[in-house]
Amino acid sequence: MTTKTPSTDNRSLTDAELLRYARQVLLTGWDIDAQLRLKSARIVMIGAGGLGCPASETLVRAGLGEVHLIDDDVIEMSNLQRQSLFLPSDIGAAKALTAAQMLKQINPLISAKGTVARLTLDNAYELLELAAGKPDLLLDCTDNFATRDIINRISVRYQIPLLSASAIAMQGQLALYEPQLKSGCYHCVFGDVSTDEAVDERTCANSGVLASTTAIIGNLQANAALHYLGLNTNPLTGKLLLWDGSRMQQRMMGYRQDTSCPICAL
Ligand SMILES: [Zn+2]
Repeated sequence: MTTKTPSTDNRSLTDAELLRYARQVLLTGWDIDAQLRLKSARIVMIGAGGLGCPASETLVRAGLGEVHLIDDDVIEMSNLQRQSLFLPSDIGAAKALTAAQMLKQINPLISAKGTVARLTLDNAYELLELAAGKPDLLLDCTDNFATRDIINRISVRYQIPLLSASAIAMQGQLALYEPQLKSGCYHCVFGDVSTDEAVDERTCANSGVLASTTAIIGNLQANAALHYLGLNTNPLTGKLLLWDGSRMQQRMMGYRQDTSCPICAL
């Protein structure tokens, strides 16, 4: 685990912060208050790979207060085609620690830390540091269904909003579930994905992924997180975003809570 920087005052922006985020606070619809909300936000990102790299980089550049990356994988040569926080000299190093170090270099005004671990239902309370309070948002940046199912269960059990992204080949998906609203969860949309028998699993490792797909979906994920954390709005309420890179098309598919969902409707 890397060392966190000392926490700063979240009620005002320093001169360094005002200078760094000048183009953002200038925006219509994004002001000092939005920047302060982002500064005080803490997220936990599961997966520091193809989606986690671009999503965390954009959020950290934008001024997110604290990011905690959880990943048990090491960097391989085949990751460098899309995992934008890593260099050839990082091969063999832990993704979570290397990504956290790079994020701190990109923006020394924020806190970033990495934990080399695999998130489970049993270790979630400790890994997410829930004794110290809930994170504002969980980001699912993983690439397998079994872990997605676990993250969804954690989101519902501890009532933590979940921003879930996936990318494969030239397609991607994005949704932001708010369990406290009883508006549906990952299981409501995709059904049982907890076992190999339940799904025909395609992953980046066995199906391939275009470098731009993860960059785009990771940044769409960052875009949704900025609206949610900075502006208290969910641009994806009740909607699953579907991106098709081969046709440059994006569409929305509505969903509702499955009233018989074994995860969120009990
Ligand atoms: Zn559900």
